[in-house]
Amino acid sequence: MALIVQKYGGSSVADADRIKAVRDRIKRTVDAGNQVVVVVSAMGKTTDGLVAIAQSVSVNHNQSLIEIAAKEREMDLLLATGEQVTIALLSMALQEVGQPAIAMNGSQVRVVTEPNHTRARILYVEPDQIQAALALGKVVVIAGFQGVAIDQSTGLPSTEITTLGRGGSDTSAVAIAAAIEADICEIYTDVPGILTTDPRIVPKAQMLTEITCDEMLELASLGAKVLHPRSVEIARNFGIKMCVRSSWLDDAGTVITSPRIGTGNLKSLEVNRFVETVSIDYDQVKIALLQIPDHPGIASQLFKSLADQGINVDLIIQAVQETEGVNDIAFTIPQKQLQLAEVVTRSLEIGASLVTVDSNVAKISITGVGMIGRPGVAAQMFTSLAEAGINIQMISTSEIKISCVIAATDGENAIAAIQKAFDVTARSHQACEINSENSSDISPVRGVALDRNRARIAVQQVPDRPGMAAKILEQLVEQNISLDMIVQSQSDRDVNEIAFTVAIADLAKAETALKEYAKVLGYGEVRCDGDISKVSIVGANMIHQSGIAARMFSALADANINIEMIATSEIKVSCVVRDHQAEQALKVIHQEFNLSGDHAIEVPSALKK
Ligand code: ASP
Ligand code: MG
Repeated sequence: MALIVQKYGGSSVADADRIKAVRDRIKRTVDAGNQVVVVVSAMGKTTDGLVAIAQSVSVNHNQSLIEIAAKEREMDLLLATGEQVTIALLSMALQEVGQPAIAMNGSQVRVVTEPNHTRARILYVEPDQIQAALALGKVVVIAGFQGVAIDQSTGLPSTEITTLGRGGSDTSAVAIAAAIEADICEIYTDVPGILTTDPRIVPKAQMLTEITCDEMLELASLGAKVLHPRSVEIARNFGIKMCVRSSWLDDAGTVITSPRIGTGNLKSLEVNRFVETVSIDYDQVKIALLQIPDHPGIASQLFKSLADQGINVDLIIQAVQETEGVNDIAFTIPQKQLQLAEVVTRSLEIGASLVTVDSNVAKISITGVGMIGRPGVAAQMFTSLAEAGINIQMISTSEIKISCVIAATDGENAIAAIQKAFDVTARSHQACEINSENSSDISPVRGVALDRNRARIAVQQVPDRPGMAAKILEQLVEQNISLDMIVQSQSDRDVNEIAFTVAIADLAKAETALKEYAKVLGYGEVRCDGDISKVSIVGANMIHQSGIAARMFSALADANINIEMIATSEIKVSCVVRDHQAEQALKVIHQEFNLSGDHAIEVPSALKK
């Protein structure tokens, strides 16, 4: 007997027939000897409909969601009704076929949240009511997406209804699974599982049988449509096994694996530490190629030559240059491969004006799923290094990791500063594991993601001294602008360039903020580009093989696609390309890693755009 949480999304409960199909699946699960807790979304597009009605009763019909959110308390009362309809109907349907069931909304269960309307994070879930009903042989049907706010003066739950933010019912389900220590949390949706890429662009994308939480989080831009990232965050912290399956099929779907030991605290389910680990790697040498021509094939030639010699390239950064037509590329490698790497790099005729080598470097990294959507974390890392007087030479970020190259002689001070800032002890990141017996067969690249919703900002001629990256980021954090793929490459000059991507919607706001501060902080031009896209490869097994990044770059070069920016982490490589070449970039990379299956994946009409 297992304790199973099943979450059904809006499309899975869209009408009476779908609710009956869900009822039958639940009944079968119970009849097989399991205890079942069900978490549901609002039926179909109900939540969208409620938002639209709210807009239509307001004075200004064109009010944005943000303006409506000024009436956040009432908005939550309204939106929470959607899920309440589904729980009542599903519980009635179960009872009618002789299956005892009870419907409960978020406040009846006591899904206790922060007192933040429309975007509350879950503090804890009281397991008692759920467990009592299960003990009576009932299926417990719980409304997702909602909770009840904590009363900060008493520390007890209030009667104020909150919601978790759009798509939040996945997060409810995993939080409930953590609280009752369920064996698995199954997420039923309208896709058969997690795919290697977007099937609207690559129809023969394949379904993965397994993916790690870390990979899932790094694929956020691809996966967000399937899973709310906050749910993966909870699963990771509490070691909960999740799976994503279609409610139309009996297929097994995709299992999302977590580290075996959870590190979470059940009293603060979603408000964990932003940063889980800090680590430093002294076995690094930095090689920089300055002013190499900016055209397709350069990165490919360089990294392919290195890979051919078995050189393990770690961090790779390519930033834009203020001089048109040239780039700087910098990378790090292990100390013992320096001689070979230097020979290879210097012998290449790719037109670099200068090749510099620096062995007095170390890479300091912070990791944590809590940094997703919290732009302040990077800023805080850079600030704590600046306050310790440490200069950052290179920066590379991914969704759940930020790495900085600093002077090796600054290493100990850097660790101390970061430990203090984030209250963490130094240890290595506990990787999510792939459980398959034959994990060596698993392709080093698991998924390819495309994010077309990004714009690039390059801040030029940033004085090369401690604190600059921190100050620049702070301007954006103040405006609540999330940024990713931050790269800083160092040149031989006494100025650097810091480039990053932001959501297109935030571009104008970010540009204004940064231009205002140019004089104060002493940097040069702020260049914005909305015509770019970010394409990434993700795979937890990448670290065990050299030359993976090189293959990605070669695939792009062969298709004559120019790479405008590169940032890497252990399990991810991201490139910025021109937007009009983005789909083709995705296709050729997917092809390069042989990720296509032999038949096209059925895409439910709801997902077709
Ligand atoms: N019904 C809510 C929404 O559409 C929550 C969910 O479906 O996850 O955002
Ligand atoms: Mg949903």
